[in-house]
Amino acid sequence: MQDRRKTRKVAIGDDRVGRKFIGGDAPILVQTMTAGYTYDIDACVAEIERYRQAGADVVRVAVPERKDTEALKEIIKQVKVPIVADVHFHFQRALEAVEAGVHKIRLNPGNISDRDQVNKVIDACKERKIPIRIGVNEGSIIERKDKQKRMEELGKYFAGHKSGHLLALMIAKLEEYVDIFQARDFHDVVISAKSMDPALVIDIYTEIANRFDYPLHLGVTHAGPKSTGAIRSVAALSTLIANGIGDTLRISYASDHVDEVKDGLEILYCLGKRERKGVELIACPTCGRIQVDLFTLVKEVEEKLAKDIELPIKVAVMGCIVNGPGEAEGADVAVFAGDRRGIIYVQGQRVANVPEEEILERLLKECKEFEARVKRGEAKLGEKVVEILPPDPIGELGSGKEKIKAGLVEQITVRAT
Ligand code: SF4
Repeated sequence: MQDRRKTRKVAIGDDRVGRKFIGGDAPILVQTMTAGYTYDIDACVAEIERYRQAGADVVRVAVPERKDTEALKEIIKQVKVPIVADVHFHFQRALEAVEAGVHKIRLNPGNISDRDQVNKVIDACKERKIPIRIGVNEGSIIERKDKQKRMEELGKYFAGHKSGHLLALMIAKLEEYVDIFQARDFHDVVISAKSMDPALVIDIYTEIANRFDYPLHLGVTHAGPKSTGAIRSVAALSTLIANGIGDTLRISYASDHVDEVKDGLEILYCLGKRERKGVELIACPTCGRIQVDLFTLVKEVEEKLAKDIELPIKVAVMGCIVNGPGEAEGADVAVFAGDRRGIIYVQGQRVANVPEEEILERLLKECKEFEARVKRGEAKLGEKVVEILPPDPIGELGSGKEKIKAGLVEQITVRAT
């Protein structure tokens, strides 16, 4: 893991929705975008609130028509999170969004042909201290005239890169756009340059990070449904963040955008870039030793804990006790299954041995009681860990079933961290 890249810091929000920062020493923010129509005020507000509750720091809305920016004024009054207006083609929409009190504008200067129009947006944002994201996408960057010639010229510079021509073109365009903003002494700028190709995303943001000190908004665009989009996004975004690059991110899924928020946060939790909220669930993949329906159990545990537990309790759901205790080391609450039963530990203390059909209920009960004790100051998260002292006391007995029968799980020991 490399240190975070030093960038300028851009403020977003107001007293009512709260002030947040992008870049500098601010935490990496997670964004998403509404999928419904902005002009449908009630539905838009409800959608924004759903994302805020899932953990979104910032929510973007599209404003393709006048009726959308008209609705924005009312929407902004009702929401509790900074709102970004996504503007393409019509500079008037940006000016109307600024009038409506929006907290940030996303602009692609490439699809607003008149430079004076872009300048009007910059001046309006400067007057109100509203930041602008200069968002360049692979799909909207291609120059129509002389495209082949231009790409051939620029591509030589990035000949060693995959998609070198495209990379060169996106960088050249960004430099051109940033010049427009700098010429008006406007520096509340965030930059993005998205592609659907994770390798290109890594290359282009790495280049941008070397060339500009503005904060960067990361994303893999058109990443597909969650099933494939998650892998594409994690491949690019985790690499960049681990290399110290990135100040805010949006995961893009062709499915429920709540998952964009959850997965964006999970990337940051996993890389230690944000303090976890809610349960951290670990579970084994199962193997030939399994003797309970672990997949169903894990799914149910995940759903229930997400609703019922606020604190970042680490919960382990393990298929057996062969590797279970070692793999669950550090879990506050753990269940090790076997022989259609589950043995439950709370910070290494064995608290229950229940039949399979009672595992879920008992595990939830133990999680809730543990959380209550933490809240009362009677226990601390991650205070004790489960471990098996060498030599492995379970030894030669084989499957989890045999071990539980033999009562050898009692020999799992606990140490304070
Ligand atoms: S915990 Fe047990 S059942 Fe799960 S993968 Fe490991 S050995 Fe297999």
